[in-house]
Amino acid sequence: MKLYDHTAPRFLATGGVYAYLKVAEGCDNPCTFCHIPRMRGSFRSRPLDSLVEEARRLEEAGVRELVLVAQDTTRYGEDLGMGRAGLRRLLEALLEGTGLPWIRFLYAYPATLDQRIFPLMARESRLAPYLDIPLQHASHRVLKLMKRGGGARTYRELIAAARESVPGLAVRTTFIVGFPGEGEREFEELQRFVEDVRFDHVGVFAYSHQEENPGAALGNPVPRRTKEQRRRLLMRQQERISRAMHRVLRGTETTAIVEGASPESEYLLQGRLLGQAPEVDGRLLFSDGTGRPGDIVKVKITKTYAFDLVGEIREVLIPAPSRHRALLPSLPSLRAAAVGR
Ligand code: SF4
Repeated sequence: MKLYDHTAPRFLATGGVYAYLKVAEGCDNPCTFCHIPRMRGSFRSRPLDSLVEEARRLEEAGVRELVLVAQDTTRYGEDLGMGRAGLRRLLEALLEGTGLPWIRFLYAYPATLDQRIFPLMARESRLAPYLDIPLQHASHRVLKLMKRGGGARTYRELIAAARESVPGLAVRTTFIVGFPGEGEREFEELQRFVEDVRFDHVGVFAYSHQEENPGAALGNPVPRRTKEQRRRLLMRQQERISRAMHRVLRGTETTAIVEGASPESEYLLQGRLLGQAPEVDGRLLFSDGTGRPGDIVKVKITKTYAFDLVGEIREVLIPAPSRHRALLPSLPSLRAAAVGR
């Protein structure tokens, strides 16, 4: 199966402020709940030069934030002979070869994450202090059945090390509840883990049994109602944690990117903090100030909720290049608007 490269034309479905850069295709991990390795084949990295070239072209087209994705970004370059240093080398090459103001990577598999990335993240202001690390569970027993290894203790240590190295690090994870082998005890262990770690963002999914998955032989013993109940419980727990973590931001000034008009009103501008990845981590609504899509701004946070934040633009720190402005609809200056949730 051929991988696309930088010569393939790109249509930016994201609107132009950010763009995803797919660094590899396929997966070699054995997760028993997942069909992707069979569907997409084994892990194949795109050549580093091709990725840097594509990133340059995206930057020239006005993109301000690059989001690296793959089924497992941590193994980037392993098949190209880079061992575990591939993702770090790619990030360094992108920092060196482009002037993109924001770069982040998603989908870090915990067992293969190269911790030498943390000092790079701490040092490079253009590399978002953001760790998306899908853990799927915290119970060692469940993780073993998922064939992922690890457990609450190792994950706690990994996240603590990351937070210690990278000031202001935002951590996102996802969990699957109702996997075979998850009894009350395992679910409670997961709840305790979520309470202790205090993630910035969490996604929770109820296990979906598929006959074609490698773990089909484990059956589907957790009733649908129980799965749904656990999903809701964990989401509610995280909502309380996120609300409290966001509250700390009230009154502080920080950096944000302006994305464009909010879907709710063309007179309301929205964007994101560095600690919010596109599409999944909530948004920042600007209730006052002037900004254009692609501007990197200083913002004062004025209101906070469980998922979204509200702030006032204080100044434009890095204006979007004019070619970018030409690509996106211009927006009027914004004054205070009623926002709430
Ligand atoms: S869940 Fe992710 S890491 Fe695991 S096999 Fe599927 S794609 Fe690979």
